[in-house]
Amino acid sequence: MKYADLTPYTYTYGTVPEGVVALNVGWLEDDDCRKGETPAGFVEALGRLCRQHAHARMRGYQSCALKHEDEPADYPVTAEVDGEQLTLGDAEVRVVAENGDWLVAPTLVLHYVAEHGYLPPEPFVEAVLAGRHAPSAS
Ligand SMILES: [Zn+2]
Repeated sequence: MKYADLTPYTYTYGTVPEGVVALNVGWLEDDDCRKGETPAGFVEALGRLCRQHAHARMRGYQSCALKHEDEPADYPVTAEVDGEQLTLGDAEVRVVAENGDWLVAPTLVLHYVAEHGYLPPEPFVEAVLAGRHAPSAS
């Protein structure tokens, strides 16, 4: 699944409340993505979001399709968050941008940022740092 950043989110659209604009962030399938340094505290805030506010949990895990130089990516992909091992790729994180739009990313976005230098769009970075996670659908 590859969706360009800030295109309309359709993957599990039924889980988004009516009237809410939901946009994709971080649905990467190759290394052709924006790269750069994220602000201090962003990776930690994103990790906590993945740990505490994952939505739309799936069966099975999405793997990392980006390039790993030395050895292939672990499957499923894991990340350490607050000293705990967290499994990524089976759920989404959803944050609310300043304008009210929802920004929906796979939990793998944490791996993309931490390991591949992916730089998500500014509204996503801002919303994660502000801790504005979307209300749970269920
Ligand atoms: Zn990877």
